[in-house]
Amino acid sequence: MASIELRDVRKSFGSVEVIKGIDLTVEHGEFCVFVGPSGCGKSTLLRMISGLEQITAGDVVIEGEVVNRIPAADRGLAMVFQSYALYPHMTVRQNLSFGLENARVARADIRQKTEEVAKMLQIDPLLDRRPKDLSGGQRQRVAIGRAVVREPKVFLFDEPLSNLDAELRVGMRNEIAGLHRRLGNTMIYVTHDQVEAMTMADKIAVLRAGRLEQFGRPLDLFNRPENLFVAGFIGSPR
Ligand code: ADP
Ligand code: MG
Repeated sequence: MASIELRDVRKSFGSVEVIKGIDLTVEHGEFCVFVGPSGCGKSTLLRMISGLEQITAGDVVIEGEVVNRIPAADRGLAMVFQSYALYPHMTVRQNLSFGLENARVARADIRQKTEEVAKMLQIDPLLDRRPKDLSGGQRQRVAIGRAVVREPKVFLFDEPLSNLDAELRVGMRNEIAGLHRRLGNTMIYVTHDQVEAMTMADKIAVLRAGRLEQFGRPLDLFNRPENLFVAGFIGSPR
């Protein structure tokens, strides 16, 4: 059984169709990257998987179950955004444990889980600080940590590194790749950056104007692009 399957999924805003029928299968443990130019529908597609966006037609299937009518909170996924979306008035510890408190996890377990994840992401010395007293990279680690503590089946990342400077971005790329190796979860990672896609992905989905142009392993896309758009987008850094 696949981890995630999209069956002819579509999305319209008013009369404008922005996702125009996409079929895609993500296997368990795969690191799948959605790449494509700004406005092509990457975020919308990710939000359709997460349940933050209602789909107009088709099926989203998670672990063999059609989840079209299942609310986001019950899909077993966790999403990490570029804007961090940390709670400014809470400490790092509170930001990390907030989701678990909602899920009625025992207090001692929350503490242990929070500290374990903080250590894994090397933010354990920062547990008592507030987001405003953290660097961009540290904030992003907290945002990732907040997803990790919930032990989701699948991680969804929406351009998580685009607010970071180039040097930090490379470091965080390696961190996320390391997290994937350690946890072995299915991850879907949205970016408009070809280099990020080529270096991080097991599989790349190239999107253009709401359609899937090609889906496959990075080297296969590079060596055997199915059209000029894929060749241009994957082949030439810009
Ligand atoms: P990407 O993440 O690839 O940059 P998006 O998924 O954000 O692209 O957007 C895809 C298209 O859908 C764009 O044309 C965008 O303007 C449109 N769109 C996204 N969200 C909405 C919305 N809530 N209402 C109307 N149009 C939207
Ligand atoms: Mg986007």
